[in-house]
Amino acid sequence: MSLIAAILGASMLPPDHLAIATRVAGAGLPQCRMYRADGSEGPCLPSFALTASGSINGHSRAGHITFTRGATTRLTADEFALLAGHEIAHWYLGHGESSREAELAADRLGAQLACQAGYDVTKGAAVFRFVGKSRIYPERAERVRTVLAVGCGQAAAPAA
Ligand SMILES: [Zn+2]
Repeated sequence: MSLIAAILGASMLPPDHLAIATRVAGAGLPQCRMYRADGSEGPCLPSFALTASGSINGHSRAGHITFTRGATTRLTADEFALLAGHEIAHWYLGHGESSREAELAADRLGAQLACQAGYDVTKGAAVFRFVGKSRIYPERAERVRTVLAVGCGQAAAPAA
């Protein structure tokens, strides 16, 4: 358990789900690079942890991404990859406050990341059946349309 996870009361992501999230994050933005202690360069990867909730959700804050236990037990690999892509995209896009626009931008980039990592976002889009209504979140149909419109090409740089 990492120090951060210990502080948050979170635990390690199951290995299969950590592999999916890492693969999706590793498909990340070309300009997002980090340097290891030995000086070698690699894609910048957020840290991933698990919370005990049985609901299906993810949360992204400053490179620390948590998923609920429900997201790891109730979603297919394609659905989890799309959720992971969405949360990773919030970090890559530098989002702080949530907004309708931020959610759609994270859906768009998240779908590109999941697709580039080899997951089927058409099947993954079924994850939106778990998204409730709120003032911030876009309509489910619009989110599905956004994901289905994404090609599997190079991830676009965030708009300046
Ligand atoms: Zn979001």
